[in-house]
Amino acid sequence: MINLYDLSRDQVESLLASWGQPRFRADQLYGWLYERRVDNFDAMTNLPKALRERLVAETVLGTLNLVTEQRSKDGTIKRLHKLHDGQLIEAVLMPYADHRRTACISSQAGCAFGCVFCATGQMGFARNLTATEIFEQAMFFARELQANGERLSNVVLMGMGEPFHNYDAVLEAIRRIMDDLGIGARHITVSTVGLVPQIRRFADEGLQVTLAISLHKATDEERSALLPVNKRWNLAELISVCHYYMETTGRRITFEWAAIAGENDTPIEAHKLGHLLKGLMCHVNIIPLNPTGGYAGQPADLDAIENFIDILSEYGISATVRVRRGIDIDAGCGQLKSNVINPKTIPMTS
Ligand code: SAH
Ligand code: SF4
Repeated sequence: MINLYDLSRDQVESLLASWGQPRFRADQLYGWLYERRVDNFDAMTNLPKALRERLVAETVLGTLNLVTEQRSKDGTIKRLHKLHDGQLIEAVLMPYADHRRTACISSQAGCAFGCVFCATGQMGFARNLTATEIFEQAMFFARELQANGERLSNVVLMGMGEPFHNYDAVLEAIRRIMDDLGIGARHITVSTVGLVPQIRRFADEGLQVTLAISLHKATDEERSALLPVNKRWNLAELISVCHYYMETTGRRITFEWAAIAGENDTPIEAHKLGHLLKGLMCHVNIIPLNPTGGYAGQPADLDAIENFIDILSEYGISATVRVRRGIDIDAGCGQLKSNVINPKTIPMTS
């Protein structure tokens, strides 16, 4: 079966030409795929029945298979998709009151970086996703929203996996999200655990995509204990490439800080972070830890986080706490897959 979402516009044209179809049929089909974004061939009413039948017989509109879907009280939708080889990945849609609709998508099945508090890291690495598998996660949400008169407005690569460990496929997927889903680069965020060479490469791409970097700790010893990648590229190297990114792109960086009670939510930690980031154009996104089975840490409480934010502001650093979405359905960070594979109760805090 040919996956139509794998084909470029030229390839759609060649396919239909090889079936003896006139060129305008390819334009029509392309319009159904990426303008009307329908999810079935019957809806393609201006294509002749024989052509639709051949499309049904020989092609598919995407290869992701929905295994489970959960809906949170706050409207967050979390999906587990099975890939053609049985790998499981998750994708999340978060609706906001201001009409933003943000998809959080995965770049790999599993992850090789082993951050101790991350459910995906606790699973290990299975394989890279293809550009189409990454793109389709956003596409599936986009077409359903469109069928309801809504629009997917933002995409964040913060699901399972390390996007910069699958750099080429991620970049291709990002370009397709921009071109085929019409989502502006400024509405796309890619999050990395801190792969320094790829951050440099990304700076040179000339894209307006937001870069988020998972920091979580402000000294090497402590960061290495949580994020083993820090032993490969330490904070000095990371901060240095952040300066390069800032000078090359003129864009500010988002730093992610999973706030863990007693670990990195104290005033001392805030001062260390303030010193580390001084002079960088940046924003700190604080996410209270989602507890996972393999790590004993608990989320920081909001008073501690507010104090933390106040201290950062003394250093001229803006910071906000990200409201945790879909907490009742464990929509964060690889938790769905870990629940399906290894059912367990995850402590819930809100
Ligand atoms: N691999 C990339 C992107 C995926 S993880 C990265 O690490 O940046 C997206 C974000 O969720 C990262 O900032 C990651 O550190 C954070 N995260 C992972 N597990 C978490 C947990 N249990 N609670 C809170 N944040 C978590
Ligand atoms: Fe991988 Fe990111 Fe999880 Fe670390 S936090 S294990 S890099 S997905």
